[in-house]
Amino acid sequence: MSGVASERLNLLGLPRPELEAFVAGLGSQAFRARQLMGWLYKRGEGRFEHMTDLAKAFRARLVETAEVRVPEVVAVQHSADGTRKWKLSADTAQAFEMVYIPEDHRGTLCISSQVGCALDCSFCATAQQGFNRNLSAAEIVGQVWLAQRELAADPRDLPAGERSITNVVLMGMGEPLANFRNVVPALRILLDDLGFDLSRRRVTLSTSGLVPQIYRLAEQINVALAVSLHAPDDELRNELVPINRKHPINELLEACWHYNDEQNGRSVTFEYVMLAGVNDSPAQARALARLLRGNPAKINLIPFNPFPGTRYRRSSSEAIVRFRDELLQRGLIATIRRTRGEDIDAACGQLAGRVIDRTTVRLGSKTFGLAVQT
Ligand code: SAH
Repeated sequence: MSGVASERLNLLGLPRPELEAFVAGLGSQAFRARQLMGWLYKRGEGRFEHMTDLAKAFRARLVETAEVRVPEVVAVQHSADGTRKWKLSADTAQAFEMVYIPEDHRGTLCISSQVGCALDCSFCATAQQGFNRNLSAAEIVGQVWLAQRELAADPRDLPAGERSITNVVLMGMGEPLANFRNVVPALRILLDDLGFDLSRRRVTLSTSGLVPQIYRLAEQINVALAVSLHAPDDELRNELVPINRKHPINELLEACWHYNDEQNGRSVTFEYVMLAGVNDSPAQARALARLLRGNPAKINLIPFNPFPGTRYRRSSSEAIVRFRDELLQRGLIATIRRTRGEDIDAACGQLAGRVIDRTTVRLGSKTFGLAVQT
C-alpha cells in the first residue's frame, strides 16, 4: 500500500467482472477473484503476501502487477459525541473528508464522492471550496475499506454487537450523481455479497437533484435515495440549490416517484435544511406538505450547521418542531436529524477538506461551481 500513484492496478473498487478478467489475464481461474475479494473486503487484508490460501506463484504475480491503494489519512478528529472525522489526501495538495457516526445499534459512515463540489448550494460549506475533481471508484470504496480498518484499530464508541459500519451514506463532499461513472461501480462493491455485503436499504445516495442521472440510477442499481429539497417552491429553491434552475421541483419529484416505482415502493427521503427566516415558516411547511402529500416520501429536517462566512442562521428548536408538527398533522412522515460531530466540523454541510485547484465544470448549458471565495 502506498499513497503514490504507480503503474500497478489498484484492485480496490474493481467490480467483480473486471477483477475476474484481471485474474484471468494473469493466467488464473475466475474463482481466484472470489478468494481475492474475500481477503480484500471480508478480512480487510491488503497485502498479497498474507493471502495464504492463494498459490504462491499467483501471489507473486499479484505483487508485481497489482496493489491495494487507499487514500492516505492526513488527520483524525474525535468528537465528544463519538463521531470521528478523517481528513484524507487525494494527492499531494487536495484533501477530502469522511465521517463515522456511531449510534446504539448502527454505525454510519458518511463518505465523499468528489473533492469539492460544483453545485454551489448557498448554505453548504463544501460549495464554497469550489470543485476540484471526481474521486475514483477506488477512492470511494477505499474510504469504507480504510474506515473499517481504522475502527478495528481504535474501537472506541462502536455500536455494541454490530459490525462497525452498518450503513453507508454518500453525503460527504461532492455531488455523487455528478460522478456517476465512478459512484455506481463503487456502490456495486458496497452491495456485493463478496464485497462489503451491505443491504440496499443501508446504502443511501444523496443528491441535490440531477434529474437525468436519477433516471439512470434507477436503471442501474438499487440503493436508497435521498434528495436535498430544502424549499417548497422554485423561487426559493433556485436561490438555495441553483441546479433547480435547470431541473425544477416538478421534474425532480417526477424523477423521484419514478425511482421509487423502479425500486419496489420504498420511499424517498427529502432533506430539508432549516434556515432561520428563510424556509422555516409554518406556511412553508404547509406548502411542503401539499407538494409531497400522498407520495412515498419521508422528510428529514436538518438543523443548519453554520460555518465561517455564511449568511444563514439555524432555525430555533421551536421553529423546527413547529415545522415538523405541521407536516405530521398533514399525514407526512417527518423527522429531525440529530446534529452530530459539530465540535469537529463534521456535521452536514461542514465538510470542507482542502481544495487548491478550483475547476469550473459545465453541467449542460449552465456553468456552476465558479469559486467565489477569496
Ligand atoms: N451533494 C449531495 C450530498 C451532500 S450533502 C446533496 O446535495 O444531497 C448532505 C446533506 O447535507 C444535503 O442534504 C445537504 O443539502 C445538507 N447540507 C449542506 N450544507 C448544510 C449545512 N450547512 N447544514 C446542514 N445541512 C447541510
